Amino acid sequence: MVTTYAEILHRDWQQRFGNIQILHVETTPFQKLEVFSSPSFGTVMALDGVIQTTTADEFIYHEMMVHPPLVAHGAVKRVLIIGGGDGGCLREVLKHPVESVTLVEIDAAVIAASKRFLPELSAGAFDDPRTRVVVGDGLKFIAETDEIFDVILVDSTDPEGPGEVLFTEAFYADCARALSPRGVVVTQCGVPFLQPAGVTRSYRRLCSGFSDVTFTVCAVPTYVGGVMTLGWASADPTLRCLGVESLRAVSTARGLTTRYYSPEVHLAAFALPRYIQDLLSA
Ligand code: SAM
Repeated sequence: MVTTYAEILHRDWQQRFGNIQILHVETTPFQKLEVFSSPSFGTVMALDGVIQTTTADEFIYHEMMVHPPLVAHGAVKRVLIIGGGDGGCLREVLKHPVESVTLVEIDAAVIAASKRFLPELSAGAFDDPRTRVVVGDGLKFIAETDEIFDVILVDSTDPEGPGEVLFTEAFYADCARALSPRGVVVTQCGVPFLQPAGVTRSYRRLCSGFSDVTFTVCAVPTYVGGVMTLGWASADPTLRCLGVESLRAVSTARGLTTRYYSPEVHLAAFALPRYIQDLLSA
């Protein structure tokens, strides 16, 4: 009986989960989907051998993908999530007074498995009347949509497999076209200590489509190798210049309940360590 699970993201370094119970294995039309239980991390979802989310630490990533752009903007009405089939970003977005959230996920099996095995991640968000789920390729959706969004969250797998197209200049150019004037794009950009080339590449490509580009950082235990970078791209640099009290006014007015995000963490997340700053000019 298999009792350990080793992630295969990195060739010469692995995180290994012990004393696990396999709950689900499925080969979807896009990827291998595995779900298992872990004494330390609750229920874990992996795609093509790469850890996607765990019920124990998902709050960190999903809160930091969602609240900095929505609190900074202050009046977000329409949100687009590309990827994010586990529903964690969707759950956090719906804590804000948005009018609509469109989630474009290429693999219906991820949504089904998340609802069945990790229901606390979406916590009913897929059934919210403001939610619209589109099962399809995010690249195609953004190229063809004539809708305008205030925030676009690219909650994709890494740039291998189906996620690869979501790290291209063409994709970012279409995101820029579909964004309102004060809009923000936030995109998962990997762990710079182990994936430095990805951060440099994403920065350059985001800069080709947006005038104000940087990253925020957060440390997610099962995204191994140190802090993770989330790309931040906008046409309005003032969105990054709000003071802690302005941020607190918005989050308090909305009664935002979080376990990681706070106005202080929001501001601190933009303070990039030198080795990450250096990757931007590499
Ligand atoms: N939080 C995770 C991370 O940081 O790696 C991502 C989790 S979420 C499960 C990633 C989702 O992106 C997967 O469900 C995958 O099917 C979806 N995805 C990958 N490529 C896509 C594409 N081209 N269009 C839409 N969804 C895509």
